[in-house]
Amino acid sequence: MLMIDGSFGEGGGQILRTALSLALATGQEVRIEKIRAGREKPGLQRQHLAAVEAAAALGQACVEGAELGSREILFRPGPVAPGDYSFSVGTAGSATLVLQTILPALLTAAAPAALLLEGGTHNPLAPPFEFLAKTYLPLINRLGPRVRAKLDRHGFYPAGGGKMRVTIEPAPKLAPFSLLERGRVIDCRCAAIVANLPRHIAEREIKVLKRELDLDIGATRIEEVKSYGPGNVVAVEVESESVTEVFVGFGEQGVRAEIVAGRLAKEVRRYLDAEVPVGEHLADQLLLPLALAGGGSFITFPLSAHTTTNIEVLKRFLPIEVKVAPISDRAVRVDVERAADRDLI
Ligand code: ATP
Repeated sequence: MLMIDGSFGEGGGQILRTALSLALATGQEVRIEKIRAGREKPGLQRQHLAAVEAAAALGQACVEGAELGSREILFRPGPVAPGDYSFSVGTAGSATLVLQTILPALLTAAAPAALLLEGGTHNPLAPPFEFLAKTYLPLINRLGPRVRAKLDRHGFYPAGGGKMRVTIEPAPKLAPFSLLERGRVIDCRCAAIVANLPRHIAEREIKVLKRELDLDIGATRIEEVKSYGPGNVVAVEVESESVTEVFVGFGEQGVRAEIVAGRLAKEVRRYLDAEVPVGEHLADQLLLPLALAGGGSFITFPLSAHTTTNIEVLKRFLPIEVKVAPISDRAVRVDVERAADRDLI
């Protein structure tokens, strides 16, 4: 049985999610210890427990230690059973992170699946729905499967209550790809979303982004949406020839709309100036599917500690090498390759 030390590197929730994803996708048993030891409130929080429960249902797994606050779990997966499932995080915990935990195993499953996920769809420190739909899933589809996501209701922190539906048509196997050039920027669009908050918040965010990023009026949009609680996000979508990247700013109580938009504009500028195709979050999330595909390459920013931790977990489960080579002071090339001396599972 594989033992994974959850205190390693970042010591956060990603170690747990990556280990669960790969245990499900490869059928390997795993014991994860010292779960989230690097965090202020260690152990399984509601969102992490929801990921464990979803993985257990899908993989007909035998699980020990699946309780709130638990710092150790044993996960013994059975065969993956695709089909229709509903999973609820029960709080504003991120539903997109629960999806990302179970999706890899469904990409090459024996039959299609349809998922209804409830919880947070727009949480700080997690992939927001727009990133999932416009950035992450189109690249997953480039590997061969056909995954579609639809947002029924926005779920903002702290009220949650969001709802999304995801359908997965699997592929027999995943085909590696490379993202080494961004190509020309075709379009840059911006949407400011408010729920149960004044419209002027969105208007002020758009004003800043239009000025800072030199956007056309037609490229900006304000959406007033229904949600259980108040919420505000502003998303910039950079569509290039080879990839669409989405960057998001989250409105916070006590932080002026101009500040939220200004920080976001800086993040988008950094991406545009660096001329890398893959942004920091995408780099983090692309590694697992490419590792399952047995290969792939991309150019991105120097890797975060979150990403290097993730790579170590991937290497524990899969016979892969991940080569990281600097190509300038602000970009690295990442190559995922099969390890020469080991067979893929
Ligand atoms: P912990 O509670 O232990 O901090 P966690 O489970 O909340 O852990 P992290 O381990 O920090 O979360 O992982 C968060 C994930 O969300 C990472 O994969 C990161 O790339 C992704 N993420 C965070 N912010 C964004 C964003 N703005 N756009 C896309 N992805 C994001």
